[in-house]
Amino acid sequence: MKIAIATNNRKKLKEIRAVLGGFFEEMYSLDDLGIAVEIEETGSTLTENALIKARTILHMTGLASLADDSGLMCDALDGAPGVYSARYAGDKHDDAANNALLLKNLAGKDRSAHFSSVIALALPDGREFTAEGRVDGIILDEERGEGGFGYDPLFFSPELGKTFAEASPEEKNSVSHRGRALRAMEDVVVREKLQNDK
Ligand code: IMP
Repeated sequence: MKIAIATNNRKKLKEIRAVLGGFFEEMYSLDDLGIAVEIEETGSTLTENALIKARTILHMTGLASLADDSGLMCDALDGAPGVYSARYAGDKHDDAANNALLLKNLAGKDRSAHFSSVIALALPDGREFTAEGRVDGIILDEERGEGGFGYDPLFFSPELGKTFAEASPEEKNSVSHRGRALRAMEDVVVREKLQNDK
């Protein structure tokens, strides 16, 4: 099966390819397809937004389309930034500003948090599938590490004993919300025999 990946985020794309890459005949990024769209995420849940993105790219390309929507949920902030993770500090999608605002809002509060990811797959025959993944962690007082993206330098994973920004891509994928959601999607692809559905 040939598949379009509905993201412009290179780091996400790398993580998606690392898990599902060997699985599909060909995987095209939006760049590969010459598509420059900023898809409006108007849903109120990760699942709605992942489906909106996958359906939009399916309609534009006619190809099976896979999209991720993800976010960071902090217990002390009633689940914020949540679905608004990318735009927490404003519409500019500025990781440094998002991290600074998160630290400000969490000052003196409980640091428990989790990342969640929903992967949606929309097929040309109208079928749609979603898969979810979650990883628990602790928000540190200051950034640690240079890798990853977004909130990774602040997200300490007890399973890895380091932040996601200090982890190698393989380590991060082995426990991350997106890694888990992608492996759950791989199970769906196998179960539905989609790899034969050309
Ligand atoms: P999306 O592109 O609408 O799914 O927005 C996801 C946002 O959540 C990103 O811009 C990051 O701010 C945050 N996020 C999601 N996944 C991760 C991750 O693996 N590491 C760090 N931040 C993430």
